[in-house]
Amino acid sequence: MKKRGNLLSTTWLLFFLVTAVFFYKFGERWFRSLLLYLSNAGWARNLISSMPLAQRVASRFVAGYDIDSALIVARQLENDGMLTTMDYLGESVTTVDEAIRAKEQILALYDHIEKNDDISANVSVKLSQLGLAIDSKLAMQNVRELLQRAELYDNKLRIDMEDSSVTDLTLDIYRTLRQEFGHRVGIVIQSYLHRTETDTRQLIENGAWVRVCKGAYAEPADIAFESKEDTDHNYIHLTELLLSAEARTNGVYLGAATHDEQMIWAVMEYAAANNIPASAYEFQMLYGIRRDLQRKLVADGYQVRVYVPFGEAWYPYFVRRLAERPANIWFFISNFFRQ
Ligand SMILES: Cc1cc2nc3c(=O)[nH]c(=O)nc-3n(C[C@H](O)[C@H](O)[C@H](O)COP(=O)(O)OP(=O)(O)OC[C@H]3O[C@@H](n4cnc5c(N)ncnc54)[C@H](O)[C@@H]3O)c2cc1C
Repeated sequence: MKKRGNLLSTTWLLFFLVTAVFFYKFGERWFRSLLLYLSNAGWARNLISSMPLAQRVASRFVAGYDIDSALIVARQLENDGMLTTMDYLGESVTTVDEAIRAKEQILALYDHIEKNDDISANVSVKLSQLGLAIDSKLAMQNVRELLQRAELYDNKLRIDMEDSSVTDLTLDIYRTLRQEFGHRVGIVIQSYLHRTETDTRQLIENGAWVRVCKGAYAEPADIAFESKEDTDHNYIHLTELLLSAEARTNGVYLGAATHDEQMIWAVMEYAAANNIPASAYEFQMLYGIRRDLQRKLVADGYQVRVYVPFGEAWYPYFVRRLAERPANIWFFISNFFRQ
């Protein structure tokens, strides 16, 4: 047992040293691509998610393994003046059983939120967690059942956006459910994709409940902006479209999901210049990231919704967080040497 532990630790150390060297040699972009590859690699998931150190470091971004732990976190955040959305972690399931289990967990999540009067969280889901790769009809039916439960409790559901291989399918499913459930269902768009302005204009016509983010997956250069500058520029453009008078008249409600202060200032400035009250939109951030900024925005009178992920399947979510800010990896390494 001890020998196996040592072997694992050594593999772990080697992994980090190799990635660190890789980082220095090829630069941040390549390092990010490597991490995004690892977030999808089964062998890396098995290796890393079994390690107590990884679990400890991941707990900075993940609110716990079960609903009760996540509700404690959500309650604390709401007591501190934040809004919350809860996410039962899981994605890319390959069997019908896994998809059904995920749906049942999320149904239970709605029940728990309803039972706790002091928590007013809504819920975010990924279609690939609900069977999209197996059969899009299965995923749609699962989300439909979730929305029926949300409707019962006057709650809401937002469909997260995954990688570009499923953008069309995700938008199609959203549009169908939007007709059935109205504003109870929301969607996410990603500013790194070239197509997103066109998608946004269609969402504005339909008065959608939209979260804008930059995008968290590895995408090819022919469909996505490669530079942060272009992605940021598009992010600001999209938030302005979604805050426009036309969009608001149609019933659009913007969730500007970012930890980037430049993006946040841009939204605030546009809103102030156009007399748009802070109640007409919200900022959204991930649990454990820029808590200082979350608190400051709330203190300044802005609405902030924190995305609270929980569950056993934390690995890909966690590695995407490392990819977004490679400096997080040093936090990891320092913990390794402190063990
Ligand atoms: C509420 C919410 C929901 C999201 N939903 C989706 C989704 O459905 N689909 C999708 O593709 N992506 C989603 N994302 C992720 C998003 O696309 C980005 O990958 C992520 O938010 C990082 O981009 P950024 O806007 O914070 O800006 P960046 O330019 O990446 O970062 C700006 C600054 O923010 C801070 N920061 C950013 N990320 C981290 C981090 N991981 N750790 C520590 N500091 C960090 C750093 O200070 C950094 O300098 C979501 C993000 C949020 C906040």
